Amino acid sequence: MSFSKAGEFFIDFGNPRKGNGLGDFIELGLLPDVKGIYREDYLRHNGLNFEEKAAVDGLLLSHAHADHVNYVNFLRNDIPLYMSLNSKIILEVLDATGTGSFTDYYTYRRQFEYYLTKQKNISRKKGDKITEPRDIRIMDPYVIETIGNLDVQLAPVDHSLPGAAAFLIEDNTERVIYSGDLRFHGRNAQLTHDFVKHAKKFNPTVMLCEGTNMGNTKKPQNFNLKCEEDIEETAYDLINDYNGLLVVNFPIRDLDRLVTFHNLAKSTDRTLLINLKQAYMLNRIEAENPDGTIYPTLSEPNLGVYIPRRKDGLLSSNSYINFEDEWIKPSDDLHVKEYEKWQKEFLEYDNAYTFEDVSENENQYIIRLDNYSFAELIDIKPANARYIHSATEPFSTEMELDFEVTMNWLHHFNIDTTESAYHVSGHATGEQLLEMIREIEPDVLYPIHTENPSEYDVLMDDGITVIHPVLKS
Ligand SMILES: [Zn+2]
Ligand SMILES: [Zn+2]
Repeated sequence: MSFSKAGEFFIDFGNPRKGNGLGDFIELGLLPDVKGIYREDYLRHNGLNFEEKAAVDGLLLSHAHADHVNYVNFLRNDIPLYMSLNSKIILEVLDATGTGSFTDYYTYRRQFEYYLTKQKNISRKKGDKITEPRDIRIMDPYVIETIGNLDVQLAPVDHSLPGAAAFLIEDNTERVIYSGDLRFHGRNAQLTHDFVKHAKKFNPTVMLCEGTNMGNTKKPQNFNLKCEEDIEETAYDLINDYNGLLVVNFPIRDLDRLVTFHNLAKSTDRTLLINLKQAYMLNRIEAENPDGTIYPTLSEPNLGVYIPRRKDGLLSSNSYINFEDEWIKPSDDLHVKEYEKWQKEFLEYDNAYTFEDVSENENQYIIRLDNYSFAELIDIKPANARYIHSATEPFSTEMELDFEVTMNWLHHFNIDTTESAYHVSGHATGEQLLEMIREIEPDVLYPIHTENPSEYDVLMDDGITVIHPVLKS
């Protein structure tokens, strides 16, 4: 096979080896060498010492984006995890629908354990024998939770993922604020404004503040999109005037954006088709947090679930299987077996759509696809299609390669790609962050989550001490 040709369409990359526990991560400096926080199974596998007692009383999880949650996998299971209800739901969804190898956020699966079979063979334990739930503790907004010798409050904020939060933490001597990731221009902007009010009143001695967009002066291409609602307004004509299939790519768990394109589907009389993982997430939120969300339910009009072909690809009304040398129609039962347990319920939905539905009436749909699902275009075979990129513009070499893959798919199907990014950031602008910190007025600021920490030094003029800690190597 030609790897270079396949690489135009499919992405693959090496990963740390699971069989080496913590080894690969520590060797490469991906995890710091901290005593008393790492999981017993990995430590013992690497011949390292497992402390009897955890070194910390809990972990505060701001939100379930990968850069914040990924290394929860490595924590010992007696450390409670504190978070918002929506963050818990997202971890649950990741657990049920994910396939990754270092993803023990919601469920802890003990590795490297063996047992003696009836036939007296040593065999590796799996399934129920090794699973335990993680100790997840849901925090209500602004209700004090005592964790060890700290009083902690969770402050919901606006971000490109449901459930995002900041934390207000105090003991007898210090009052610390941790911003998490936040912005003032999403559909929950009021939450961040409320946080700023609470944070100011808290009179913090220390603030740890994110700075993703500090020093980033890049404006979105072509349009002056300032808030989520601007996308809705600006993309309307583009969708309404188009006679063909709309293909949109937006981040899978950005439900603000899902609302945006659902609203656009409503106003242009189309149906937004989301993928199975998104459908599952909306269902979990509806079931567990029905009053606390602005997100649509799957029973709402103009919203549908796209069902892809899986395994043997038996979804089509034209599919046949070869059984004992004869081509026959597969039974419904066989078709259902193609899907995972969590996916099966969606097959029964009235608003479940397949590639055949989409190709028959392509101008009735807005379908969300990304680099993991563009292969659906092979089945859909769109006659006329337009692409809307509603995710961040590539800013690293890796992302440029991903974007090249996107373009290869779109060009292969002659899809109109002339439209620029319809996207707003998940993070506040640099000016907004400075204004926010001046308003909150901590004594000391630690810039975090930024490539340009020195951009915060201007706050010294406001009497705020800005500290840039250097990690011990
Ligand atoms: Zn984030
Ligand atoms: Zn982040």
